[in-house]
Amino acid sequence: MRIVQKYGGTSVGSIERIEAVADRVAKACNAGHQCVVVVSAMGHTTDELVRLARAIDSVPDSREMDALLSTGEQVSAALLAMALQKRGLSGRSFTGWQAGIVTEQVHGSARIEDVKTEALRSSLAAGEVPVVTGFQGISGETVTTLGRGGSDTTAVAVAAALHADLCEIYTDVDGVYTTDPRVVAGARKLERISYDEMLEMANLGAQVLHPRAVENAKLFEVSLVVRSSFSDEEGTLVVESAGYEQHRVVTGIAFEREVARIAVLGIPREQHGLAKVFGYLAERGVNVDVIVQSLVQAETVDVSFTVKEEDTARTLRVLDELRSQLSYQEIVAEQGLAKVSIVGAGMISNPGVAARMFSVLAEGEISIKMVSTSEIKVSCIVDSQELDRAVQQLHEAFLAEAPEKGVTSKEVSVTHSYL
Ligand code: ASP
Ligand code: MG
Repeated sequence: MRIVQKYGGTSVGSIERIEAVADRVAKACNAGHQCVVVVSAMGHTTDELVRLARAIDSVPDSREMDALLSTGEQVSAALLAMALQKRGLSGRSFTGWQAGIVTEQVHGSARIEDVKTEALRSSLAAGEVPVVTGFQGISGETVTTLGRGGSDTTAVAVAAALHADLCEIYTDVDGVYTTDPRVVAGARKLERISYDEMLEMANLGAQVLHPRAVENAKLFEVSLVVRSSFSDEEGTLVVESAGYEQHRVVTGIAFEREVARIAVLGIPREQHGLAKVFGYLAERGVNVDVIVQSLVQAETVDVSFTVKEEDTARTLRVLDELRSQLSYQEIVAEQGLAKVSIVGAGMISNPGVAARMFSVLAEGEISIKMVSTSEIKVSCIVDSQELDRAVQQLHEAFLAEAPEKGVTSKEVSVTHSYL
């Protein structure tokens, strides 16, 4: 098999960890597989580099920021290549540009446009083990980075471009869980989850995979496995999936702390408040999440929406600027909120899931401030002090028992325990 293995920051956090990763890569190579490795920067290196830059300038030049941040992964790639060589393998590091990862001309959050695979292919043909720096690429002559957590995306892009059979994401947890085990002790590791469910989970706050990596995996049909580099446990398979998840209505519970609600009250109806408010916020780069519009009186409209708590002040400033164009009556901000979401492809065919969620929260006397839904998720905004309890009660109601296994558990283990 051709396998792309990606190791995250904790997995390569020290020399001992890099040696352990090299052992794991060697084991796969010695079992006859062709391996390409993608690495993150060691431990908290990227945070530390950000801190250094900000000590010079609170808004550092974006080109130089990318030049700086890309060095973290170069360190771990070179060290891992050395550790592979010590084991008799021809490890060879590749920076983003050496690996042909071409991005758009954007700093700090560039999207990959192309992976020119010649260099990696000839390295593989020569029997080498390429070790590619995650999180970075090149645009013209300039180094770009893909945004925090972007090494997952690099791994999926490389796997897609090389038509790898499998892309393994090694991290410090042994898979994707029904919810965060730090909040619910009885959270269970999922054997399998669909791309769509994983994408919702990742977007709704589950940290285990970067949403863009999942998006690309779905687009290019890359089979993903999330597993731990600290154990030999089988991980969670992320695939297109069919059948299996119909046996469960809810697959997982995701949550996000530190949410704020902003309400713009009394917008004259003829002023197209929604278009103006959200157009204006978008132009200024404020990310808005749940949106609710209500018609309180015939003449005016109230609009409320959520943002990350840390964006509250900036959002209020932007809305204040808008006052001259939109004669609203008042703005109210509420902090200390959180979002809890249930996710599951089975919702499409099982009505009444939202109703059940609301009644579980009502029984726990947890009041719901806002709701948003998609085909496969329901999110509620609640008080952040009640978040843990909300997650626990929802887990108890929807996920306490392991679902019956419909099919494929054999097929799954064949796919992800190749060693
Ligand atoms: N090192 C980068 C970060 O910390 C990229 C990654 O780890 O995925 O965000
Ligand atoms: Mg990560």
